[in-house]
Order: sequence, then structure tokens, then C-alpha cells
Amino acid sequence: MPMAPIFFDHISTTPLDPRVFEAMKPYFTDWYGNPSSHIHDQGQAAQKAVEAARGKVAALVNASPAEIVFTSGATESNNLALKGAAGAQAGKKRHIVVSEIEHFSILNALIPLRNGGCEVTMLKVDGDGRVDPDDVRRAIRHDTLLVSVMHANAEIGTVEPVADIGRIARERGVLFHTDAAASAGHIPLDVREAGADLVTLSAHNLYGPKGTGALFVREGAKLSPILDGGFQEMGFRAGTENVPGIVGMGAAAEIAGREMGEWAAHLRPLGKRLRDGIAASVNHVHFTGHPADRLPGHVSFWVEFAEGESLLLFLNVHGVMAASGSACSSNLKGRDEEDLVASHVLRAVGVPSDICTGSITFSMGKGNTEAEVDAVLGVLPGIVRKLWEMSPTYLDYQKRIAQGG
Ligand code: PMP
Repeated sequence: MPMAPIFFDHISTTPLDPRVFEAMKPYFTDWYGNPSSHIHDQGQAAQKAVEAARGKVAALVNASPAEIVFTSGATESNNLALKGAAGAQAGKKRHIVVSEIEHFSILNALIPLRNGGCEVTMLKVDGDGRVDPDDVRRAIRHDTLLVSVMHANAEIGTVEPVADIGRIARERGVLFHTDAAASAGHIPLDVREAGADLVTLSAHNLYGPKGTGALFVREGAKLSPILDGGFQEMGFRAGTENVPGIVGMGAAAEIAGREMGEWAAHLRPLGKRLRDGIAASVNHVHFTGHPADRLPGHVSFWVEFAEGESLLLFLNVHGVMAASGSACSSNLKGRDEEDLVASHVLRAVGVPSDICTGSITFSMGKGNTEAEVDAVLGVLPGIVRKLWEMSPTYLDYQKRIAQGG
């Protein structure tokens, strides 16, 4: 009997929590007003709902409501953080510090900024994917306007030492942005403790709807809008608000604030069971990311002689949905490699791109179970063996072993 589908790709998106959907529904049907039309009842209802959601998102990260700017998602929030900070400092400061494992919505947003005269320092990470805060200290110059280091990396699960980085940026009078799209609602994040001026948040990564995100903008932080238009969102983000999406993000943030401890307590042992099971049943496996400081329920690895995309395809045939870190570099604008190679993140943590052709990221969510972990462990070793049997480099390796080489 084929297995029931197993969704182990929560890092790409999460299912909408039914409670969130219920909260959103009236704002599609009954309350369709534009929050800017608050002269009438429809507009007022929409405005009230947006403000209530702003309070809930603020509470999740210990911000005040006036510091939450709703956007269309993490990509827009990251663009607003970088381009908005650079825009506000135009003609004054022009240096930006980022880590080399940031999401493409950071790395590619730097291209027009560079073209406009900004200089960028890319921070290296260690073998676990961690930025050394001392490197941040050394990278900051008199003309640095922004440091941007993500809270957690989606591909390898590593959580960065943002509080230490934020402290250094603060001491030097430099804005600190952290991209918490993958982590907010999963592990605690306090914008004050993190010393952050700007924080990217995503609704669809915390059991909320797609198409909605937010940027925390610390009161007094200087930021120019990147869209020209009306004066919504305290003037930081023009355009009529996505009211149902925002209501959904508020509901999702409220639920996550209450339940994330429980989710993490459920997911950490599941992650350990999966990791231990893989280590015990698959040879030539290399786990990626920090062993302890990582997202709950996140297990990432690569297998020598087994190409990441092929592993994913075979897993999907068995009903297991996961993500791969391979072939991403072809998405990085300005590069033209089209081959299946290790992603920019894998290369940054030092995986040898001649023998690593892609990684697997299993990211579990609150609904996943031990039985699902065991089912995945039941199929993975066989898939790896099948791929090895098709791999000329593996067969070569076997020959060399047999010859005592
Ligand atoms: N930042 C990080 C860390 C991410 O993992 C992602 C992808 N989920 C994004 C930004 C972009 O998110 P979105 O595609 O939802 O805009």
C-alpha cells in the first residue's frame, strides 16, 4: 500500500492553521472595507482589524505596534530593509555588511545597491554556518550603514548569534537587520534582546497565509520607502493593505506566541529521532548546520555520490516531500552556472562541491509524527542505495575499495 503523503518541507511553507483561516474568512466576505476609508463602518472595521493584527505581531517579537510595517512577505521586507536603509543614508553612508549565507532576497537586493555606489562586505561563516560576531566588529567602517545577518538559515537550520551581533552594531551606531522569516514563531525572538533595528517576518512560515509579511522598524530608525504611492503603514509601505492576509498573520502570530514552546518540545525529539536514524542507516552521510543551535525539527544533510535533486524525486515517489539545497546558485543573479552544484550556503560551510551535488532539508512541522519519521527512515536507505547503483563515481569508488585503494 502506498504511504500517505508526508510533508517534511515546512521550511518552504507551512499549512494554514484552520484557526487562522477562520479568523481570515470574514475579511473576504463580510468586512471588505479599505482601512484608509475609515470614514465609514466598512473602512473602520478593516482598520480595526489591521491594528489588532499589528498588536499581535508586535507581541510575538516584543515590539510596539507602531513598529510593525505590513508587507507582501519576507522578500519585500528584506528589500525594504536594505534598500530603505541605504536610501535613507544616500550621500552619507554607503557600506553594508551581510553574511554570505543570506537568502537571495538579501543577496540579490544588493546588486542594484552596489550599482548605485554601495560597497558590501560579505561575512564568512564557520563549518556550522555561524557568523563570528568579532568578524562583524572588524567589518564595520566609519561609513557602514547596515549590518544584516539572518536569525536562522532555512537550508541548514543554523541559528545565528544575533544578540551578540546586534550589540556590536549598536555600539558602533550602525543599523542591525535580521531576517527572521524562517525562525519567527518557531524559536523565541525578542527584538530588544537581539538589539535589532529591523526584523523581517513572514506569515506563511508560521502557519499563516502566503502573501503577507512584516518588517519591524525600531522607533526612530531611518528608513526610506521603496514603493511610491500613498501613506499607508506609517508612510513606510504604500498600497492598500492585504486585510485578510494581515488578519491571518496576526492570528498566526498570536497562536505561535502561545504554542511555539509546545511545538518545539514536540519537534526537537522528532528531529533527533530522524537524525539518529539517518546516521545509523545511511553511509557517507554528512549533516549540515549547527548540531545544537538549530531550528526545531530541522534535519539537513548530504550524501556522497547521491545527487540532492534525485533523492528528492525518489522521496516524492514514496510520498515524502522535502527540499534540496542543490542547484540554487543558478538563481543567484550575476552567476551563470547552470549545473547541479552545491548551493551558496553549502559552499559557504565548506562542503566540497566536487563530491557534494546537493543536500536534503527535512523540515518538520507541528503536525508531523514519530510514525512519519519512521516511515521516512524506512524508505531513505533504499533510495540512497538505488542512486549509488546508478552513480559512476560510486561504482568507481567501490572498485577502488575492492582493489584496496
Ligand atoms: N528569508 C528567508 C530566511 C527565507 O527562508 C525565505 C524563504 N522562505 C525568504 C526570506 C523569502 O520568503 P518569501 O519567498 O516568502 O518572500
